Amino acid sequence: MTDRLRIALQKKGRLADDSFALLKKCGLRFAIRGGGLLARVKNMPIDLLLVRDDDIPSFVANDAADIGIVGENVLVEEQLTSQDELNANITMRLGFSRCKLSLAAADTGKVQSVTDLNGTRIATTYPGVLGQYLRDNNIKAKLVEMKGAVELAPSIGIAESICDLVSSGATLEANGLTAFKTILESEAVLIQSGRELSAAKAALLDKLMRRIDGVIKSAETKYIMLNAPKDKVKAITELLPGSDSPTIIPLAGSDDLVALQAVCTENIFWETLEDLKALGARAILVLPIEKMMS
Ligand code: ATP
Ligand code: MG
Repeated sequence: MTDRLRIALQKKGRLADDSFALLKKCGLRFAIRGGGLLARVKNMPIDLLLVRDDDIPSFVANDAADIGIVGENVLVEEQLTSQDELNANITMRLGFSRCKLSLAAADTGKVQSVTDLNGTRIATTYPGVLGQYLRDNNIKAKLVEMKGAVELAPSIGIAESICDLVSSGATLEANGLTAFKTILESEAVLIQSGRELSAAKAALLDKLMRRIDGVIKSAETKYIMLNAPKDKVKAITELLPGSDSPTIIPLAGSDDLVALQAVCTENIFWETLEDLKALGARAILVLPIEKMMS
């Protein structure tokens, strides 16, 4: 392999756009065009390998890529179904593409909960994760393995329930199905094999991970500025989520008011702003933070 760090990413689909956006926010400059398998990052020694998400864990495990971004659900499924032990593990959670792998069935059918599953058929594209769940819970059911359109299985009569990915639940609802049990919660993750990287690649990966961390943190972090009565500063600070020591600045021409500025590590909701106002805070501004490095 070259000394360019190679990152396996989903080419197209629910993970792809957010993965590209994350890397762009980390300062990588690249363009994704048409059918190419490899995209070069212009300003860093990094190549992007653009593939189907199911292939990402094995590409990382087999050294076709140094790292990859994939749904945890796909990683766990590959770990459970691969012939040999899969050499790919989570290095970092990325917080996007959140979804659940859930069991669901028709409201009118005979399966309404986990205890009804014995002796029934369950359609899924996740035989590994589902098989493990059934074994762990001592449930004897038949797996009907499908490649897609799992939500149609009950209505065409090939299974009594399904085990599929759910985010909003709209697809289930449109097919008259209701989820009754979550067996795995998933988000996008950065994965890596146990192999050692060259010193140059390791340093680059380290830098990339620090930037990713900064991007994730800054997405949740806000800068708040407000004017407050001096005697309410303590109460107001206590209301600010995840801020330890705010900056207090005197206000010209005012003895009883000060300006308060703080970094809040959690989102600030309208309710908090209303509570701040009730304590006497005025001219409240909440600003996004573009980049962070600590
Ligand atoms: P590929 O063509 O790369 O194999 P795919 O059809 O298998 O793509 P997508 O539907 O693009 O996969 O989903 C990719 C990943 O996005 C999923 O494995 C999961 O981690 C995540 N995801 C988030 N929300 C959902 C959802 N509602 N349904 C399916 N996947 C979701
Ligand atoms: Mg796939």
